[in-house]
Amino acid sequence: MATGRGRQLSLGRIAGIPVYVSPTWFLVAAIITFGGRDLVLDYLPELSDGGAYLVAFLFAVLLYLSVFVHELGHALTALRLGLPVRGITLHFLGGYTEIERDAPTPGRDLVVSAAGPLLSLALGGLGLLAGQAIDDRVLTFLVWELAVANLIVGVFNVLPGLPLDGGHMLRAAVWRFTGDEHRGTVVAARSGQVLAGLVLVLPFALNGGRPELFTIIWAGLVAALLWSGATQALAVGRMRARLPRLDTRTLARKAAPVAPDLPVSEAMRQAHDAGVTSLVIVDSAGRPTGIVSESAVAAIPEQRRPWVTIGQSARSLQHGLILPLDVRGDDLLKAMREMPATEYLVVDAESRVYGVLVTSDVDHALAAR
Ligand SMILES: [Zn+2]
Repeated sequence: MATGRGRQLSLGRIAGIPVYVSPTWFLVAAIITFGGRDLVLDYLPELSDGGAYLVAFLFAVLLYLSVFVHELGHALTALRLGLPVRGITLHFLGGYTEIERDAPTPGRDLVVSAAGPLLSLALGGLGLLAGQAIDDRVLTFLVWELAVANLIVGVFNVLPGLPLDGGHMLRAAVWRFTGDEHRGTVVAARSGQVLAGLVLVLPFALNGGRPELFTIIWAGLVAALLWSGATQALAVGRMRARLPRLDTRTLARKAAPVAPDLPVSEAMRQAHDAGVTSLVIVDSAGRPTGIVSESAVAAIPEQRRPWVTIGQSARSLQHGLILPLDVRGDDLLKAMREMPATEYLVVDAESRVYGVLVTSDVDHALAAR
């Protein structure tokens, strides 16, 4: 989800939602245009070469329009439910809608996830009906192809595994029935990994076990995307399940207050006597002004330590380096992301020094099983 926008073209906004297209789309459009010419001529032999290319290119554009409508289904439903939408991106194998789900519920997740495939399937059905009512052969061909494309997009996306919509729906259903969001994620992500495996072997199961090279490459690409999406969903889910462990109160190390003009050797002796590893610089009134960086102290050679003041190894306390005691979980990670540092000062409700939060301790808490 959190991909950069560096290599994406902006297409403007619809209903206030920014729409982007990845340049990889042009590659796919070219493949469809050149690869689709023969298929078009099979159905419409009366067309010229140029006409066949044009129809194939039109199909590529209409296919993307279908994907866009699918994503719009997600986005508008999310907006309807009061969830902010950050944007819609179309890429070479489809699209995705970035939705902020600050207060997620299984019900809302289910409705937002189902809206896209439902719209695709409805468009596919309408296209099949419309195809029978049209006289023009070229138009009938395009409408028919478009209907099939929408049905494929709809059916593929309801397959029950993350990162597909069907996976989100499965996740919401398991979450709803067990009351356990994490279990929902694990079930849907594992199911996504199984789907990836099935997509990989499917070409060999069909076509009498002798698939074409193009089919194998295509299936491999889809399987790889499914696998990486499912695996990433699993990793994010695991991390989210560990967030409650991120409690500033228990993670913060005890710290000793020291005056800035104290020699490093003396400050370290005081820390040792107090049984702490972290030092906080305080002014004459006892107010904290800086945090001593452990790595900066460690970098000072032993024989220089009596001659260097501890204040020189401290980072002065800018705004983001002070964390209140009650910040935890996701909020703690957000605060740390806003102001990356190796150490943070933790203060209690009266702004007194509680301790020092060391970033590596947070990493360990997240990584531990
Ligand atoms: Zn979708």
